[in-house]
Parts: sequence; C-alpha cells; structure tokens
Amino acid sequence: MLEPPAGTYLDGRLVNLATCPVEVDVLERLPTPWGLIRGGVAPDHPEKKAITRVFDEVVRRPGFRFFGNVEVGRDVLPQELSAWYDAVIYAVGAAGDTHMGIEGEDLPGCYSAREFVAWYNGHPDHSDLDIDLSVERAVVIGNGNVAMDVARILTTPIDVLERTDIADYALAALRASRVREVIVLGRRGHLHGAFNNPELEELGELPGVDIVVEGEDLPGDGEVVLDDADAATLRKVDTLRRYAHRPIVGHPRRIVLRFLTSPVELLGHDRVEGLLASRNHLEHDPATGRLRARPTGEEAVIDAGLVLRAIGYFGTPIAGLPFDDHKGVIPSADGRVLDHGTPVPGTYVTGWVKRGPNGIIGTNKKCARDTVRSFWADAHAGRLPRADTVDAPTVREIVKQRQPALVEYDGWKAIDHHERQSGQVLGRPRIKLTNTTDLVAQARCHQ
Ligand code: NAP
Repeated sequence: MLEPPAGTYLDGRLVNLATCPVEVDVLERLPTPWGLIRGGVAPDHPEKKAITRVFDEVVRRPGFRFFGNVEVGRDVLPQELSAWYDAVIYAVGAAGDTHMGIEGEDLPGCYSAREFVAWYNGHPDHSDLDIDLSVERAVVIGNGNVAMDVARILTTPIDVLERTDIADYALAALRASRVREVIVLGRRGHLHGAFNNPELEELGELPGVDIVVEGEDLPGDGEVVLDDADAATLRKVDTLRRYAHRPIVGHPRRIVLRFLTSPVELLGHDRVEGLLASRNHLEHDPATGRLRARPTGEEAVIDAGLVLRAIGYFGTPIAGLPFDDHKGVIPSADGRVLDHGTPVPGTYVTGWVKRGPNGIIGTNKKCARDTVRSFWADAHAGRLPRADTVDAPTVREIVKQRQPALVEYDGWKAIDHHERQSGQVLGRPRIKLTNTTDLVAQARCHQ
C-alpha cells in the first residue's frame, strides 16, 4: 500500500530491482495519485512536479495497478491487506501537524500551513477552508521551507499565480487579498533558519515585494560565531545580509524575516487579532546538543489577522498498525515495521511515516531504496508470510465492492486530461478539480 511520491519511488525500485516478476497495487485515499507532488508542492514550482513523468512510466509497467479513492482503515483493513499480499508497504506520509500548545491557537484565523498549502493546492479535504485574506498582516510561525512557500504564495503577484495550477478558488481569494505584510517568525537566530538556500534566495526575486531582514545580531564577516558554520549556512547568512542591506523600496507587499522570536499567546475575541511574541536568546541544550530558544522576558504584541503555523507536519495512526504517538511515525528498523520492537512480517514503511516529516522530495528515493532492500532481503530469505487467500483479479473485485467509486489509472488519466485541457485555454498547466464528487465523475468519463 503506497502513497506517492514516497510510494512511487518505492514501486519504481520494486520493479527495477525485480529479479522475479512482481505485482504492485497502489492504494490511495484520494481519487488522484502523486501525494504531496499534487497537494503539497507549491504551484509556482512546476519544475518540482516534473518527476510525475518518471512516475507515469513506472505505473505503465505490467503488474502495476492504481486503486484510487480507497482508504485503508475505512474501505480495507491492514489485516486484510496482509492476507492478500506477500508484502504491504505503507507510504502514507504525515497527515497531521504539530501544535504550538499556546493559548488562542484554536481561534479562527489561525491555521496550520499544512491546511493552507492543501487549500491553495485544491486538496479535496481542504477546498472549503474559509481563509480570510481581507486582513493586512499575516504572521507565519517557523522558518522552514513550508514557511517560505506560504509567505511567497501570499505575496506573489497575481499575474504570476495566474500561470500556475493553483486552485481556482484560491486564485480568486488571492486576487482579492488585502494582505500587505507577511512576518515570518524564527524562534532561533539567523544561523538557524530551517529554510534551504534556493527557497530563501527565491524570496529576493519576487517582483513587487520588499524583503526585510530584522536583527542587529545578524553576524558580520569573520565573526567567531560563523567559525563552525558549514557552507550552506554561510550562504544563508550572506543572503540575509544582502537583504538587510537592500533599500526598502516601498513595494506594495513585503516579507519580514524576524529571528529569535516565539509566539506566547494568540490574541483576539472571535478570531485572531494578533499575537503576543517573546524575544528569545539561545542556550545550549545538553539533551540534543543543539542551541535552543529561551524567552528573555521581553514581549511585544504583533497585530495580525491571519496566523499560519509552519512548525512541522505530524503523522497520524492507522488502526491496526503500531504507531509512535510521540514521534508521529510507524516504528520501524530498516523499513521493517516494528511492533514492540519485533518486526511485523511482510509489513514495511517508507517516506515521512517512516522517518518523520523531513527532507526534500528526492530524499524519498534513498528512503525507498533502503526499504526495498529490506523487502528483497526478506523475500530471498523466505521471511515473507505467503499471501494465501486471493488472486489479483479477486483483490480488485473486493476493492471495487467496498468502494464502488473506485478510480483506477485510466480514470486518473481521464481526470488529468480534463484538467490539462481546461487549463490550456487559459494558458495554465491545468485547472484542478478540487472535490471528490467531481473527480470521481470525471474519472468515469473514460468508461
Ligand atoms: P521544518 O523544516 O522542520 O521547519 C520547522 C520550523 O518550525 C523550524 O524553523 C523550527 O524551528 C520551527 N518550530 C518548530 N516548533 C516550533 C515551535 N513550537 N515554535 C516556533 N517554531 C517552531 O518543517 P517544514 O517547513 O514543515 O518542512 C518539512 C520538510 O519538507 C522539510 O524537510 C522541508 O525541507 C521540506 N520541504 C521542502 C520544500 C522544498 O524543497 N521547496 C518545500 C516545502 C517543504 P527550529 O529549527 O528551532 O526547530
């Protein structure tokens, strides 16, 4: 059971490495494949979606089937999959998010960046999210790549977004948006931003957007604090310095990168009106060996009508499978699922549900390779429990009985074709269908 992109890397590996014929079924909760490529990658990063061309080749190989709109735990159970297949590989990602654990976090107007990203990418679970962009200032908590994505999407000129596959309703909302300033709060210092260099540098190229880097503590050339910094960190600091020295032109929009600041409480009555933020200093944490942020006691209110917490995704459990509530992953060793430390025969994980929500898309390639290596080692050593109950056509029959609105690969291709055609007339890569009913109806068009 797989969910791309981790899943598709995985079955690419399965088919490539096969020394004997292998059949792979991908079960996917949505009617569409490609996981975060479709629902997570920013719409203005089309080059990152090009990998789907490779996936397309994989899924056309004999022995591969796509069962979309099928939810494990609802339509089929893990114990059934274990009986039907010689091996089951879970690549279900991280469908939840980390919480700040502060007062006011549940106020309307505060969302996780995961929800916001899913909203602008047309994910059926979040297409009806009521995001209010009639506010002038938004605050993003955390400064990883997801924070960069949402800050950029909130400030990118609409004529740029009009050429992307962003969801139509999000395009309309962003066209009417009154957001003028996005403040990105990093709890640690300039050296510790979790963003990658390309994402940081991209901000500086946004037309019509001033980038403001705050902090008199931004290290200068040759400062001792930079002695141990690696090349990537030095490049980040260089970019931040360049931004800090750039004149503020007074563009219509701006992104403020603020460091050493943490939210203490979200303020507002019926909805978010601002947040109380604390200034931090850094201290060594002997437990992790990292520098951690500690409040100095200096606090200030930031007025803001929208708060997006981009502090990390978090895995959600599947009934019937072991789960580590603390880490939000299915416990595993070398990709083999562990139940109280003992491998569950024929059961594997890959992607974020295996290693936590970190790494770029390509990281999944190595992750999948490692899992597949364990799978083949077990297969050759006779450690896979033999599937004994049903053959491939029967599996499909059962799945179709459980989910009559099953979307198979041809159905997805019908959706894909329709979306691309609708986009073509407007000069856009595609216009996404954003609810399950429409997706299933379109998938049926090929029948
Ligand atoms: P992330 O990279 O782990 O960043 C999380 C950020 O939240 C860090 O700045 C972290 O600060 C901060 N944070 C965590 N808990 C906090 C708290 N309680 N209060 C305040 N700040 C807090 O996570 P992400 O941005 O969600 O990205 C997830 C993964 O997807 C990453 O590996 C990322 O590279 C990848 N991704 C890649 C791309 C791309 O390639 N363009 C795009 C999107 C995502 P500390 O550093 O102090 O912990």
